[in-house]
Amino acid sequence: MLSGLMMDYPLTLNTIVDHASRMTPEKTIKTKLPDGRWHEYSYAEFRRRVKRLGNALQALGVEPGDRVGTFAWNNFQHLEFYFGIPCAGAVVHTLNIRLSPEQLKYIIDHAEDRVIFVDGSLLPLIEPIAAQLETVERFVVFNLADGQSCSLPNVSHYEDLMAAASEDYEWRCADENMALGLCYTSGTTGMPKGVLYSHRSMMLHTLGALAAAALGPTETDVVLAVVPQFHAMAWGLPYAAAWVGATIVMPGPHLQPAPLAVMIESQGVTIAAGVPTIWNGLYHELRGRPRDISSITQLVVGGSAMPRGLIEAYERDFGVNVVHAWGMTEMSPIGSVAKLQTRHLDLDADGRWDIKAKQGYFVPGVDARIVDDAGRELPWDGATMGELQVRGYWVAGQYYRLEREREHFTEDGWFRTGDVVTIDPQGIMTITDRTKDLVKSGGEWISSVDLENMLISHPDVLEAAVIAVPDERWGERPLAVLVPLAEGHDPQALNDYLLERFPKFWLPDDYVLVEEIPKTGVGKMDKKVLRQWHADGKLGSA
Ligand code: ADP
Repeated sequence: MLSGLMMDYPLTLNTIVDHASRMTPEKTIKTKLPDGRWHEYSYAEFRRRVKRLGNALQALGVEPGDRVGTFAWNNFQHLEFYFGIPCAGAVVHTLNIRLSPEQLKYIIDHAEDRVIFVDGSLLPLIEPIAAQLETVERFVVFNLADGQSCSLPNVSHYEDLMAAASEDYEWRCADENMALGLCYTSGTTGMPKGVLYSHRSMMLHTLGALAAAALGPTETDVVLAVVPQFHAMAWGLPYAAAWVGATIVMPGPHLQPAPLAVMIESQGVTIAAGVPTIWNGLYHELRGRPRDISSITQLVVGGSAMPRGLIEAYERDFGVNVVHAWGMTEMSPIGSVAKLQTRHLDLDADGRWDIKAKQGYFVPGVDARIVDDAGRELPWDGATMGELQVRGYWVAGQYYRLEREREHFTEDGWFRTGDVVTIDPQGIMTITDRTKDLVKSGGEWISSVDLENMLISHPDVLEAAVIAVPDERWGERPLAVLVPLAEGHDPQALNDYLLERFPKFWLPDDYVLVEEIPKTGVGKMDKKVLRQWHADGKLGSA
C-alpha cells in the first residue's frame, strides 16, 4: 500500500451530535407532548442530555454491545435514546408499538434486551407481557401523566436517572464496526426479522440521505418525521436532520390528520415523511378543513406505493411536491427516490407525475439488478419484471442471529428484496409487487399494486387492496377489497374503468366492501389478514 493515505477517521455516531452542538448550538428540537403543549430545547442542550444518558446507562450496568429497547412515540426523549444508547456503545433496539403482544415478546426475547425505555402512554401495551420477558432486567419510564400508576417490575424514572447523572462523559463508540441499532421488519410477509446496523453503515447511510439526490435536508429545513422511529429508523431522517442542524419537529402521539395539518402549518415544516396512509388521511382532512401547508418542499412518502392520483392531487390542490421513495428495513432504509432528472424538465404535468409515481432512481451507494426465478440477470427495458436484488454500504448482510440463508441472500453477495420490479433503460425502477403478493393467474403475473393504484384513483374509492385467492382453473385470481367513499357501489363501472388500462384477465373476479382495510404495525395494508379473512369466509361479496 502507498504511504501517505488520508486519515482513518471512524464513522461513529458521536460525530453527528458533536458537530450539531458546535455548528448549530441554538437550533432547536421541538416535541408535541402528550398533553398538547410544546417542548423545545437546543442542540447544545440536546448534547448535554445525550452525555448524561451515557452516564445513566452506565449506572444501570449497560455495557457495550448490550441491547436496549425503546417503546416510544417520536419525541425528544426517543431522539436522546437514538444517540445516547449507541454513543454509549450499546445497541438501540426500536420496538414497534403496534406489534401484537406475542410478536413483541418474541422480538424482545430474540434481541435479549436488558433494559427497555417506555413512554408512559404506552404502558398498557407492555405491562401485560412484562413478567414473561426473559432477559429484561429494568424498565425506565418517562412521560408519565400526573397520578399515572405503573405496574412494571424493576422500574426507574428517566428524569430521576438523568438528574443523578453527570454531563461529563466520554463517548464509548470508538470503533465504527460496533453495532448501533437493531430494527425488526414489521412482519408484513412473515415473522419479524432483526436487522443490525453498525455505526459505519448508519453514518454512510446518513451521508447518503444528505445527498440532494436522496432527501438532502439542510440547516434551513424544518423536518417532521411522521414515520415512527421504530419504522426503519424513521428512514434515517433524525440522524440526517441533526447532522446539518435542521429544526426537528417531533409529533409525539399526535399522528391524526387534523393535528398534523395544524403542526405543519404552525411550525412551517419543509420536509415531512410518512407512509401513504398518513398522507391520504391528511389530504382528505385538508379538503374538508383547508390549512396552509405550502411551506413543504418535500412531502416524502414510502413504505408502500403512493398512488399516482394522490401525488397529482397534492401538487394540483396544495402546490406540494411529493417525493416518492422506496426502501426497506434491511436497507437502513433508503434505496431509491423518484426525483426528476434533466430530461424530465420539459415534460408536462402528466408526464412528471408519471415519473414521480414510480419508485425512481437508486441513490448513490446502492447497486441493483433484476433476476428471473433461476437467478439469471434480466434486462433494464422498462417491461421485463424480475426480482430486485441490491447491495451497498447500508444493505444488510444477514439477519440478526439467523443463518445467511439463500432465501434472502445470494451466494454472490446480493440481498434479495422480495420485490418484483421493472427497471427502464435510464435506471428508473417501478415496483410491480412483492413476490408474496403477486397474483399468479394461468401462468401470468398480475400486479396487485397496479390494480390498487388504478382503483384508488376512481372517485368512488377511498382504499383498495387486491389479494390473490386460490382458483381451481387459474391457480389464483385477483379479489379486490374496497373501502368506498360513498354509498352505491357499481362493480361494472369499476370493471370498465380498469379495462381502460389493463387486459381483461387482470380484472378482479369480485369486489368486496369493508369498513376499513386492516393495517400492519407501520400502517401498510395487511394482506396476510385479508387472505385469512377470505380463507375463513369472512369476506362477503359486494
Ligand atoms: P416490512 O417488510 O415488514 O413491510 P419494511 O417497511 O422494511 O417492512 O418494508 C419494505 C418493503 O416495503 C419493500 O420491500 C417494498 O415491498 C415496500 N415498499 C417500501 N417503499 C415502497 C414504495 N415507495 N412503493 C412500493 N413499495 C414500497
